[in-house]
Amino acid sequence: MRADYIWMNGELRPWDQAQVHVLSHALHYGTSVYEGLRAYEVAEKAAIFCGPEHFERLLYSCKVLRCPSPFTVEQWMDAAARTLRANRQRSAYIRPLVFRGTGTIGIDGRKSSAEAILAAVPWGTYLGEEALEHGVDVQVSSWRRGSPGAGTPLAKIGGQYVNSQAIAMEAHDNGLQEGIALDANGYVSEGSGENVFLVYKNELFTPPISNSILSGITRGCIKTIAKDLGYTVTETAIPREMLYAAEEIFFTGTAVEVCPVRSVDRLQVGNGGRGPVTKAIQDVFFGIVRGTHADKWGWLTPVDMAVDMAADAAGDAPAPERVTA
Ligand code: PMP
Repeated sequence: MRADYIWMNGELRPWDQAQVHVLSHALHYGTSVYEGLRAYEVAEKAAIFCGPEHFERLLYSCKVLRCPSPFTVEQWMDAAARTLRANRQRSAYIRPLVFRGTGTIGIDGRKSSAEAILAAVPWGTYLGEEALEHGVDVQVSSWRRGSPGAGTPLAKIGGQYVNSQAIAMEAHDNGLQEGIALDANGYVSEGSGENVFLVYKNELFTPPISNSILSGITRGCIKTIAKDLGYTVTETAIPREMLYAAEEIFFTGTAVEVCPVRSVDRLQVGNGGRGPVTKAIQDVFFGIVRGTHADKWGWLTPVDMAVDMAADAAGDAPAPERVTA
């Protein structure tokens, strides 16, 4: 995992020079917000998937942390395009991050600077290529998601991800690929870094935002695809037991994409492996991001790879624009 350049506070820096001070507030208190988005190679260009939606969520997270983003959605899109070009990447995992730098060692970080970086690194299938076909084995985590009064799950704030790490580490230590956390009341919430969908009697179900989930951008796309395929999608509180009753379960997320779950707590899901509904949804999703299906909802923003770095630095490059098929 390496690239030539990282964008930092408005300019590209060589990888080794993108550094922070040890007294950065974010290191001590988790005062950072971030996003994860992907660029896919489509027609020999990098195409950013749902870029504006991710940067809008980044700005929302900044608002909640009371750490205003130094850049607008358009400026962030431009930073992503510049970074991909500089690194000659047609596909990448893109990681924008806003964090509190130096200024105070007190808990209230608002006297510290607001810093911004965007990195783009190679990152393949999150849970393994095989997992997309055969599914992953998961457990219900012993860790709960925070109660609504204890956190802000709709915002991707760095410090909140210690809870996600506990969920992932527990599952890995148990020889499983992922954990599904329940919310404070015992209803299904989400994985450590992905949303959950269930298929029951040929209908789709997923927890609503009131069950302490991050409102995933992929989750939104999958709802759109599923409805377009003629499935009913219901957002409702899901008791733990439905994870055992479901015919199919799959995760959605930028890193995990659309990944089937084949067992929960060592109980096989449905017939084990990938079910037909999951497969139908995957076919449309991967078709769009691999360029074999029309991007009919306009989720991809192609990046012109031909612009040279000098023009980019001078701001002469055209702004990336979405094209709806
Ligand atoms: N839940 C959590 C806790 C996450 O960190 C993520 C990844 N951002 C998701 C769900 C999936 O969200 P998205 O589809 O926007 O990547």
